[in-house]
Formats: sequence, structure tokens, C-alpha cells
Amino acid sequence: MTDTSSRVKIAKKALSPKARKVREERKTTRTNQRTVILAGEVGFCFGVKRAINLTRQALVEREDVFILGDLVHNKSVTAELEAKGLKKTDDFENRTSGTMVIRAHGLPKESIQEAKNLGLDVVNATCPIVLRAQEAAQSLQDRGCQVVIIGDANHAEIKGIMGALEKPALVINTVEELRKAKEEHRLLRKVGVIFQTTHALEMCYPIVNELIYLCKEVQIINTICRPVQNRQDDALDLASHVDLMIVVGSSTSANTMELYSLCRYHNPKTMHIECASQLRPDDFTWANTIGVASGLSTPVDLVEEVRNYLIDYEDTTEEADSYAGIAAK
Ligand code: SF4
Repeated sequence: MTDTSSRVKIAKKALSPKARKVREERKTTRTNQRTVILAGEVGFCFGVKRAINLTRQALVEREDVFILGDLVHNKSVTAELEAKGLKKTDDFENRTSGTMVIRAHGLPKESIQEAKNLGLDVVNATCPIVLRAQEAAQSLQDRGCQVVIIGDANHAEIKGIMGALEKPALVINTVEELRKAKEEHRLLRKVGVIFQTTHALEMCYPIVNELIYLCKEVQIINTICRPVQNRQDDALDLASHVDLMIVVGSSTSANTMELYSLCRYHNPKTMHIECASQLRPDDFTWANTIGVASGLSTPVDLVEEVRNYLIDYEDTTEEADSYAGIAAK
């Protein structure tokens, strides 16, 4: 999870025209006890939707479909696909038949080739934006730069990008890591920078600043996923205008936990839940305005359940009655 406190003061910024468009899509519902505002975009991003659809199609058309790890970090989607026959595995070296689905995060190109050499069919559900990030890294390397990827070295997408490169890249997630790399002579003078597609731009600024300070030449290709950036900006703006912010998504989803962390920075009264059943009245009955946002791999149904629960919940305590009385005046 992103630790905003140890990294950077996140400046509040004006929304871009596209993020303003996302904001216009917010759904606001007022009851006599609270106002619930749903962020402009919730549910799966297009890359996740595409990967799920390709997998569903493969399960209809083919036998013995398997995947390395989870298609998305979401328990309900994973359960649905497994019920339809998708098998999850940690490796494929012992297989000689079947169809391997590649997740939206991508896979190192050697692994894809290895699967094909073993005689496996491959359904490549790598998100086109992730593929562009892989190409951007390669083009920087071709220009003679040491590739620096700002992101989490353990994330599947970063492993895929590293695996697409001919020479090793340096993965950096904090300014401290960058300074350490410099001290250990692992940082070269001419670098080419790309970003993990789901990273918040605000988290990247201090690292880029430091790179400019430490290196002679810095070339940058902005590989941050723009739709996600707009969605994040809208959620952060919403968080800073409500009493309580709720982020819905799996705790194993890096982008959900990063969104939670960023929202909490803008509004300390931010909570993370995986589904509506985790909500307790004490969590939210005190709040007049509640914002709801979600991670990129959270099904829209789960978010709607949370929203509906917040709208429908009637607080019958005396305190609530007196609030409703004031609100009705
Ligand atoms: S967040 Fe962006 S890059 Fe990642 S899968 Fe979704 S659309 Fe693709």
C-alpha cells in the first residue's frame, strides 16, 4: 500500500477537463438523514473488463483454460470464473496442452514464448495501455537510456515490463530507494523514465525531481493510465468535500489500497471495505455527506450495494430523530 505520509505532501490540484467530465457523472442521493455521493466512475476499468470478457469467451470456446494467478484481485469475479471452469496455477512448465490466459497486467515475453513452445494456446488479455508501457520502456532503452520504472517491483505489471526489456531496468518506489541506488552506483547518468500505469502522478513527482537533480539526462514517457488518473482525481476531489469517504475493493488490490491511502490523505475520515456487509451503523451514521469510490477491479454491483445500503439505512436513535427534525425545517 502507498504510504503517503513518508513520501510526499500531496498538493490539491485543479481538476483537468477530463476529470471534470468524470465529476459530472457523480450520482448524488439525498435522504432525510444523509447525502450519498457516488464517484463519477466506478466498477471495472476498460482493461479489466476486456480481460474478463476474453476469459469468459475462452471458457465457452475452449477446454482446459488456466491462468497464472488471479485475473483480477477480486474474490467475487475470481469465484465466478472458477465456477465456469477457469483453473488457477502458479506455473505452467509441466503442461503440454490447454489454454493459458494472460492477465491485464501482462507477462514477461519470455514466459509467453515458453508457453507457446510447450504447445499451449495463449489468450493474451494484456491491457493495451500496459502493452504501450512495455513499448515505451523498450524505446527508451533503444535510445541508450537506463530504464527507470517508478512503481512497485513486486507488481505483476512491472514484472511484465521488465521481462519485455533486453537489459535490466531499475524499479524505484521512493526517493530514498533512488538515493540508495545512486550511492550504490546502480543509477546511470542517462535515464529513461516510465511509470506503473496505475500510479498516482502525485506520488511520482518527488522521484522525478530527484532524478533531474541526480542525473545528467532524463527522458520521460508518461505511461500513467489516463482514465485511471481522471478517476483518481475525481475520487480525491470528492474525498475532500465529504464528511466520510468509503473506498470499496479487495484488500489484495494494489490500486484499491492506493486509492484508499490517497483519499485518507485528503480526508482522514476515509474507510476501506470490501463489501456492504462490512459496514456497521457506527461507521457512517454520524456523517451528513458520504462519498463512495472504488478500485479498478471492483464489480459495480458491489459498489451499488454499498451505496444502496447507505441510502436505505434508517437510523432510529434519538440523536438521528433530532437531526432529521432539524433537516426537515
Ligand atoms: S488501469 Fe488502465 S492500464 Fe491498468 S488495466 Fe485498467 S485500463 Fe489498463
